[in-house]
Amino acid sequence: MAIKVGVIGTGNIGTDHVTRLASQVVGSKVVAVFDVDLARAERVAAGTGAVTRATALKVIEDPVVDAVVIASPGDLHAEQVLACIAAGKPVLCEKPLATTTADCLKVVEAEVSSGRRLIQIGFMRRYDPGYQVVKEAIDDGTIGEALLAHMVHRNAVVPDSFTSSMAMTDSVIHEIDTTRWLFGQEIVRTTVVATRPSPLAAAHLRDPQIVLLELSGGGVVTVEVFVNCQYGYDVRCEVVGSAGVVALETPGANALIRDGRRIETVPADWRVRFGATYLAELQEWISGLLAGAVAGPSAWDGYAATAVAESAVASLESGAPVPVDLVERPGLYT
Ligand code: NAP
Repeated sequence: MAIKVGVIGTGNIGTDHVTRLASQVVGSKVVAVFDVDLARAERVAAGTGAVTRATALKVIEDPVVDAVVIASPGDLHAEQVLACIAAGKPVLCEKPLATTTADCLKVVEAEVSSGRRLIQIGFMRRYDPGYQVVKEAIDDGTIGEALLAHMVHRNAVVPDSFTSSMAMTDSVIHEIDTTRWLFGQEIVRTTVVATRPSPLAAAHLRDPQIVLLELSGGGVVTVEVFVNCQYGYDVRCEVVGSAGVVALETPGANALIRDGRRIETVPADWRVRFGATYLAELQEWISGLLAGAVAGPSAWDGYAATAVAESAVASLESGAPVPVDLVERPGLYT
């Protein structure tokens, strides 16, 4: 018994998802792929047994396809996810669910009308063993009451097309979801502060930036986002509790100790740091589908994350704190 998956978008992450679903995940087969670059789709499909289709809709409506992975650019996600709901097919949609809260809400409403959970969002950090240790230490009271957290999100470099607001919508959106999941609370207000810019970042870019996330329970999270840090990909998270602190460690870093110095390797990029995490995410999604359930980060989580990212972009532009106003959470997501 295998879940037959169709994949839309075979760029960076879509290619990795096809490879993992075809060769590493237990219980899945890739049967159809689509990308606007058909030659790329054909290269990625080669050797997996999958066929290429002429449009995204042809993948979604293919009777052979049991479930869909969406890894196309973010501004296409809402339309493609809505088509999956209309076809009654489970979908793992890469973040973001949609680029506006209005579009996220359309998807939430469509899923609620369908009466069952079909959508999972690709907030894969929830499947990372390091983050899971942090979550356990909060949930079981090991660190007492969780009061605040410090998070860091650094990339070596970004292309010139990367904008200051993308630091919120593409990068910090992961910390936004991580914060909501770790604390089990909503983010009610954001404030973005730019520091002195790095001379090595593009002139149009505010880099680094500090983001303050205020939680419904009174906690506060700081996020440093620095997308031109030069030295590698460095994601950190330290939660401060009333009785102790739990800190995320980068896994599998070897150390070279010599001449009175200790040198550790920093992952080059997100693919290296989170490779095993993407596999765990896909495996849990497929195992869940085989058992008849979708249980990962929901369309509500996608909506809330986009709403917080939107508020952070507004704060970046105005320099003032900006509240996050969410609609009432539908019963499907409680
Ligand atoms: P990418 O490399 O640009 O890949 C997107 C692919 O989709 C490209 O091949 C693009 O073709 C293709 N495409 C364009 N229009 C399409 C359409 N109408 N239907 C289907 N495919 C279409 O981008 P990426 O880095 O893989 O990112 C894809 C999504 O995954 C984004 O939403 C991103 O935020 C997300 N992502 C998530 C993570 C994570 O950690 N969870 C990591 C990376 C990316 P062209 O290049 O020819 O336009």
